[in-house]
Amino acid sequence: MYVYLRIFISIMVYFTIIFLPIETTSDQSGLPTQPPPILEDTYFLEVVPVYNIEIADDLEVKDQRLVYKVEQQVWYYGKGDNRQVALTFDDGPDNYFTYQILDILQEYDIKATFFVIGSNVERFPEVIRRIAHDGHVIGNHSWSHKDFTKISPNSMGAEIVKTDEALNSIIGKKHTNIFRPPYGSYNKEVLETVHSLNYNCIYWSVDTKDWANTPITSMIKTVSSQITPGGIILMHCSGSNGAMRNVVKALPEIIETIKDLGYEFGTIPDVLEFNQQVNHQNLREL
Ligand SMILES: [Zn+2]
Repeated sequence: MYVYLRIFISIMVYFTIIFLPIETTSDQSGLPTQPPPILEDTYFLEVVPVYNIEIADDLEVKDQRLVYKVEQQVWYYGKGDNRQVALTFDDGPDNYFTYQILDILQEYDIKATFFVIGSNVERFPEVIRRIAHDGHVIGNHSWSHKDFTKISPNSMGAEIVKTDEALNSIIGKKHTNIFRPPYGSYNKEVLETVHSLNYNCIYWSVDTKDWANTPITSMIKTVSSQITPGGIILMHCSGSNGAMRNVVKALPEIIETIKDLGYEFGTIPDVLEFNQQVNHQNLREL
């Protein structure tokens, strides 16, 4: 009898281990994506200059494109020398919740980074103008939020370039060469394509899971326990009504929590110190 009990317990333990849920981070839609970001996971391609084109000094003047460092890696967080963190808002703009988030950021005098979807850019150009006017940084989050690991490099390029052109037509080339892959989903092919278009690939270090209607107390707990100097916080400015109402309510509390911990807010180029490290060797026009 005792032997059977031992066998039964062994089988139970075995199945418990096999079926333990694996924690993954996820973007809107709930699709599982990459494992939690840790620096060791940072993906490095062979570090060689992709383009050795000499860039004329007047590139910035001519294009008004803000040019920043392009390295063959994914950026999860900055070095944090100046105790800055970056708030990032994905999937916008819409013409309702994005405005509310902009109002809150304005109230706190915080500059954030918006990773926008091209098809939304086309629908709500006036919101893009407001984001740019308020001094926030605008990054590229593809045209239609497809999982880039499931489409061809040609389609990836078209998604990025079409979004780039939509932004150009509204605010000129005043947005930046930063890209966040939809669902945080990437592989070697995705990175090669993104880098070949001279975009930096930006991930995050703190996932609030705000898109999933996460209780405000849980979001605060996540942020306060995971935030580090140079941290990049993933939030959304467009999504389901219920989740977004929750985000708008949570944002002031999240901001207060981060401030109480002694952090300042910066944009992605601030936190990653791209402005100080422009690498003209690796840059070219799109
Ligand atoms: Zn997204």
